[in-house]
Amino acid sequence: MSMIIKGNTGDWEVVIGLEVHAQITSKSKLFSGASTEFGSEANMNVSLIDAAMPGMLPVLNEVCIRQAVKTGLGINAKINLRSIFDRKNYFYADLPQGYQISQFADPIVGEGEITLDMPDGSTRTIGVERIHVEQDAGKSMHDQSPDSSFIDLNRSGIGLMEIVSKPDMRGPEEAAEYMKKLRSIVRYLDTCDGDMEKGSMRCDANVSVRPVGSDELRTRCEIKNLNSVKFLQAAITYEANRHVEAYESGEEIDQETRLFNTATGETRTMRSKEDAHDYRYFPDPDLLPLELTQAYVDRIKEELPELPDQKKLRYIEALGLPAYDASVIVADKDNAAFFEEAAKGHDAKLASNWMMAELFGRLNKQNISIHQCPFTAQQFGDLLGLIEDNTISGKIAKEVLDVMVETGQDAAVIVEQKGLKQVTDTGAIEAMIDEVMSANQDKVEQYRAGKDKLFGFFVGQVMKASQGKANPQAVNEILKDKLAA
Ligand code: MN
Repeated sequence: MSMIIKGNTGDWEVVIGLEVHAQITSKSKLFSGASTEFGSEANMNVSLIDAAMPGMLPVLNEVCIRQAVKTGLGINAKINLRSIFDRKNYFYADLPQGYQISQFADPIVGEGEITLDMPDGSTRTIGVERIHVEQDAGKSMHDQSPDSSFIDLNRSGIGLMEIVSKPDMRGPEEAAEYMKKLRSIVRYLDTCDGDMEKGSMRCDANVSVRPVGSDELRTRCEIKNLNSVKFLQAAITYEANRHVEAYESGEEIDQETRLFNTATGETRTMRSKEDAHDYRYFPDPDLLPLELTQAYVDRIKEELPELPDQKKLRYIEALGLPAYDASVIVADKDNAAFFEEAAKGHDAKLASNWMMAELFGRLNKQNISIHQCPFTAQQFGDLLGLIEDNTISGKIAKEVLDVMVETGQDAAVIVEQKGLKQVTDTGAIEAMIDEVMSANQDKVEQYRAGKDKLFGFFVGQVMKASQGKANPQAVNEILKDKLAA
């Protein structure tokens, strides 16, 4: 899964680390009581603290801390019982304080790891360096007027988790899987909604290259604010190739922050990269060090839901699903819940097959998620039941599912109304076979003379005569007998 770039001087590998900013799911902001609601009118969710009025004092929102601890536990990370809020000083129009309250030397969450399920079925473990909690900034709007810019502070002060990976990824595909897995985990935990298109999860990618086999870390460039998995992959690919071309033509790479242009697929310089010391971090004198007790952390640990990795293992071990099916279904919390409800009392592999091969495709076509599925998981399970007890064949079941997606009706009702019940009555099947054989005497003779291939022809004719409703197994058995006679 590594990306290898072939150059004139040899092969190069890519080294990627990701910094993900994830908005914490919480009704109010990190240090104020203002609402975090998305899509409100500009500057409606702004307290005096978020607007940085003189003399205002931040008050820590415990919910945000609980969410960060939960996220840390969800990636098997070390929780630091003592963490410190620092001021990260910089000027920007959408940051009225003139500094961001963040965590620097003492973050709330230390080292953890995330296991990736690669599309080829293999797994890769990526280290997480830390998670710190910090404030989001406001938003500058440059497209509202030809000669002015505006500031919306609704986002100012919303709690963020900055999740920093180790430089463990070796290609755009691994980076994409990392983002997807992280999103899946925070959604299971309900600590961030993971909606990249709304900006509640944003990714900065640190990219460098080195000759294959070397373990040096060369100069990296940071590509800012990638807001989709697709753009993340495109930006990494472009950037890695740019580095290789530079090194091969004897140039150096400058450490800098770059922007990805989604229209051209290229990255360009935004600013030369600052180092931590440029921000003059110091502990925020308005906030005491944050001290948690082990009991507090343990209580949160006890309340953790079953996470995708555990669920996948259970599906494999207890339900007998193949690893591939298990990882596809557990990737989305809602899909997994639907699957479990539907599979109750039915064959798990039948359920995963029908979800992955039939249901997902139909929902995608209508551009709806499992949430908006017009029928319940229980109704889907009932359809599986009709296949299992031979009331309908797989072929008919696909037609029934089409109608279910359209109308939300019960499978049994559709089968009844449309007369789709499978014919298992052997007398009726025999009669149809006799008719087909007498209408095709010549072919019967050819078959008996050794032309085995004609068997499929007879099956097809009988199925046609039954309008697809004859039980295929019964047709096969009776046909074999009759043709042999
Ligand atoms: Mn940050």
